[in-house]
Amino acid sequence: MKDVKVLLGDITQSECDCIVNAANKTLRGGGGVDGAIHRAAGPGLLAECIALGGCDTGEAKITKGYNLKARYVIHIVGPVYSGSANDAALLEKCYINALDLAKEHDLHSIAFPAISTGIYGYPIEKATKIAVDAVKVWKEKNPTYPIKVDFYCFSERAYAQYVLTLKNTKY
Ligand code: ADP
Repeated sequence: MKDVKVLLGDITQSECDCIVNAANKTLRGGGGVDGAIHRAAGPGLLAECIALGGCDTGEAKITKGYNLKARYVIHIVGPVYSGSANDAALLEKCYINALDLAKEHDLHSIAFPAISTGIYGYPIEKATKIAVDAVKVWKEKNPTYPIKVDFYCFSERAYAQYVLTLKNTKY
């Protein structure tokens, strides 16, 4: 897909305009990628997040990036995997809402972690397909808006899955 890359590494090192945080509903920090982003951004991020007053599953909120290389952080709350049909719709919504918010703020590069695939238990094969399809659908709906998308993977397994899914997706 045009302007879509898969990277293996720590998303806090991304030089994209914005990085996406797989946050929880409180927006008060947590483990996994959320903890890593808060540690790298510094205390200003937590203060701004607390002032936002939480976030519903599937929704997205934006803050500044503080000590990160990225200028902004888009916080989304992925679904906790339950095996119900609604999981996929909510996970797709996370990607779509994050991209919409990036566009609203005129941001042209965005880095996503593998939302919900850690503590929230979403199987990586299923989550990867939803992520790639959501970006594809969004790009098709916004053909005149250039945006680079980096999928940041934190394990070889996730990386291989993204590479395979992108290869098997028709554009
Ligand atoms: P969730 O609660 O949405 O499952 P997690 O943070 O537990 O969020 O995990 C989401 C994904 O982010 C997992 O695939 C995990 O391996 C990955 N991850 C954890 N730390 C980092 C990091 N520093 N950079 C990129 N990805 C990360």
